[in-house]
Amino acid sequence: MAELLGSIDQGTTSTRFMVFNPAGEEITKAQMEHEQILPQQGWVEHNPEEIINNTHTVVEKALRKAGLDGKDLAAIGITNQRETTVLWNRRTGKPVYNALVWQDTRTDKIISEIEKKGQGEIIWCKSGLPPATYFSAGKIRWILDQDPELAIQAEKGEILFGNMDTWLIWNLTGGPDGGRHVTDITNASRTMLMNLATLEWDTELCEIFGIPPVMLPEIRPSSGSFGNTLASAPFRTEVPILGVLGDQQAATVGQACFSTGEAKNTYGTGNFMLSNTGTAIVPSRSGLLTTTCYQETGKPAVYALEGSIAVTGSAVQWMRDQLGLISSAAEIEPLANTVKDNGGVYFVPAFSGLFAPYWRSDARGAMVGLTRYANKGHLARATLEAICYQTKDVLGAMDKDSGIALQVMKVDGGATVNNTLMQLQADILGVPVVRPQVTETTALGAAYAAGLAAGVYSSLDDLKANWRVDRQWEPAWSADQRESGYLRWKKAVERTLDWA
Ligand code: ADP
Repeated sequence: MAELLGSIDQGTTSTRFMVFNPAGEEITKAQMEHEQILPQQGWVEHNPEEIINNTHTVVEKALRKAGLDGKDLAAIGITNQRETTVLWNRRTGKPVYNALVWQDTRTDKIISEIEKKGQGEIIWCKSGLPPATYFSAGKIRWILDQDPELAIQAEKGEILFGNMDTWLIWNLTGGPDGGRHVTDITNASRTMLMNLATLEWDTELCEIFGIPPVMLPEIRPSSGSFGNTLASAPFRTEVPILGVLGDQQAATVGQACFSTGEAKNTYGTGNFMLSNTGTAIVPSRSGLLTTTCYQETGKPAVYALEGSIAVTGSAVQWMRDQLGLISSAAEIEPLANTVKDNGGVYFVPAFSGLFAPYWRSDARGAMVGLTRYANKGHLARATLEAICYQTKDVLGAMDKDSGIALQVMKVDGGATVNNTLMQLQADILGVPVVRPQVTETTALGAAYAAGLAAGVYSSLDDLKANWRVDRQWEPAWSADQRESGYLRWKKAVERTLDWA
């Protein structure tokens, strides 16, 4: 029997396909970046057709590289950038607009109107999310508003909505020719349209945004059947799709955070900390999101508290692309190490407002504490510290909401290769930071979800046994140093508010 597990990881900046063996070890991988379309300030789009084409390319490339074909795969899982919204025509399969990406803030008027009408509370109570441009519902509304004809077609069920998981599955399972229109509970929980308690689309929430429920996909457990791929390209055989998880939930599964109170923090374009709250829906009083974590078919859903930070790794990209201070992301580490501390410089990269725990869309970025002494090394260090301080803000909210102080932080994501960043994180948090051997936990988590449904694993315990430490960092700063740094950070954050 085929035992290998494939995983499509459709991320914000790139799409990868990876194959894992049952021990969770990487067998092959291929990755491709896609264009970030930035038509104007605050707008971020992706071309959904480019993403489908890239998915085909990376699957074929990775399989070929390892001499594998679709028949070698027991199943595949899909994980994806969440919230990013695609609308397409059911008959032609053509997107009606570019995908509106989670970072896109063009829906701010739609959101502030909802708040003005006092509908924020009901959205928060039912979906676990505060109304924000971040989530899908406002993006669906915005696209429908572009053409009165579209809204009419949507009512008739001719226009379909999906996040990237749904868009990929629909295309891989047949497209206009019987493609499955499905999603999982974790992706659905990021739309502001799903009721967290019933795990179904909520009529009242759909009405608030004027979204016809016929355009929404069927919501399924994360581990279970989502249909089979076509026997044509890219797998060239029918492969069952048995796992779907939004990227952050996938990383939580990949990090084997299956017990209440276990948490992971992913360092990518943004940072996302998720803490497993078991089968309890815990409303946050501290600026976190309540969200679903995963669900196995036939079992109750598991929930999580989430702290989402919009700009972390992308601040490093900004230093590279907009400031030209470094020519690759990796160069930030040696540059930061040319100085012994931040030289009094604090950088709050509130480029698209501040997400958790502040939720201030009126904030904009600021660099403060500059003197004639500051050099680019200090800016690099302040950028790394900004990633760590934002994480401290979120961890503080987690501790408050859960009433339990985290003992050790499991980390993953592209930026965790930066050892200086990891040491700074332990120093700033005062909590040890631990990195697992497999840092591609997002792709791994989707493979795990598929493997559970395929019977490659018999239980979550099998997955826990796969988790192994690569390296651990211990806090080295004194309590005084930690406290005074954090006070400065909080002051810097204040300077960014009430700006836009
Ligand atoms: P995503 O899945 O969100 O696209 P990844 O997990 O691939 O992100 O991580 C990419 C991010 O990590 C980029 O924003 C990049 O700037 C950042 N990054 C990559 N290498 C480093 C490094 N050595 N130090 C700091 N940040 C880094």
